[in-house]
Amino acid sequence: MKKQTKLLTAGRDPEANFGIVNPPVYHASTILFPTVEALDKGAANRYEGYTYGLTATPTSVALQEAIAELEGYDQAIAVPSGLAAICAALLAFLGNGDHLLMVDSTYRPTRRFCDSMLKRFGIETTYYDPMIGAGISDLMRPETKVVFTEAPGSLTFEVQDLPAICQAAHAGGAKVILDNTWSGGVYLSAPDMGVDVSVQAVTKYIGGHSDLMMGSIAMNDEDFIKIKDAACELGYGAAPDDCFLALRGIRTINARLPIHQETGLKLANWLDQRPEVDRVLHPALPSCLGHEYWKRDFTGSSGLFGFVLKEQFTKTHVAAMLDDMELFAIGYSWGGFESLIVPYGTTPPRSALPWTSGQLIRIHAGLEAVEDLIADLEAGFVRLNA
Ligand SMILES: *Cc1c(COP(=O)(O)O)cnc(C)c1O
Repeated sequence: MKKQTKLLTAGRDPEANFGIVNPPVYHASTILFPTVEALDKGAANRYEGYTYGLTATPTSVALQEAIAELEGYDQAIAVPSGLAAICAALLAFLGNGDHLLMVDSTYRPTRRFCDSMLKRFGIETTYYDPMIGAGISDLMRPETKVVFTEAPGSLTFEVQDLPAICQAAHAGGAKVILDNTWSGGVYLSAPDMGVDVSVQAVTKYIGGHSDLMMGSIAMNDEDFIKIKDAACELGYGAAPDDCFLALRGIRTINARLPIHQETGLKLANWLDQRPEVDRVLHPALPSCLGHEYWKRDFTGSSGLFGFVLKEQFTKTHVAAMLDDMELFAIGYSWGGFESLIVPYGTTPPRSALPWTSGQLIRIHAGLEAVEDLIADLEAGFVRLNA
């Protein structure tokens, strides 16, 4: 059976629920035990069955089964945000004195976590060029425990050579974690790349409606206990109503993403022809760094991409363009049904390879008609030029 089909039944059990299609929402902190013996048994096997609301409820388990199916791993864990998923996955494998290789184009809050908390706890981070490929082996040390990847990179959209990086990391005894949010788990199979742990901001495409915060960590059985321990030690559990919304979102992800893809590509190609635009940063365009790896490893592209304006345009010009948009709203996050546009200035945070350019703008292509979105951008360019 195709994954698309399996995703519609994963985590569902109508027979145990009066025939109702969707799993019910269980709100739980305390879970009762009939006897002291049952309590002791629960404590000894605390990830089997239900022992406490934070560890598992039928609602979180249903969602986790569906996410594991989507990502193609044995197991998945739902946590309260995408950033929480990243932090728990890192803390599961890293300790005082360890070394982390972090991709330079990572999501900015991931970088902040490395530079603040991990540093205070004696974990050293080296940022590496996203295009390093097999060359990552030169940066590996005996104490390197994790190589963290993100493909494509946040804001600048470089696509990494994941199989080459995984091979080098595993040869040096390190685990590979991937931030797989951009593909939604739909357009990239992380386990096929050799990735050990795939994290996603469920907030984005799985949620799909800009109304929930959640993260997921997917892994095979061999890494499950270590990561589940880290999530539980940190006190991370996903809220039941958000699990319900995420599970509803996952049923339609394969219907929504092709529209995000098609609209994103049309907007990217349209922007590529504009005289104001220096370059478009979209993995499916040959001008994007790592485009050849996107072509080899991904089965599609989602709706998030960037573009860089020519040097003569300033922040003031950008504000004139963006402030009066009718459809494109200014706001963080992405992956919902609505289009968004965010200015990122001229210097995204980079240290391995400095990046300076014209004004960088990020677009999330929503589900609106593409003609309406193009008209909105066109009017924006008139304001930019005025
Ligand atoms: C949004 C995002 C996250 C974090 O997700 P939150 O749920 O907002 O914490 C992580 N990685 C990437 C690539 C993101 O875009």
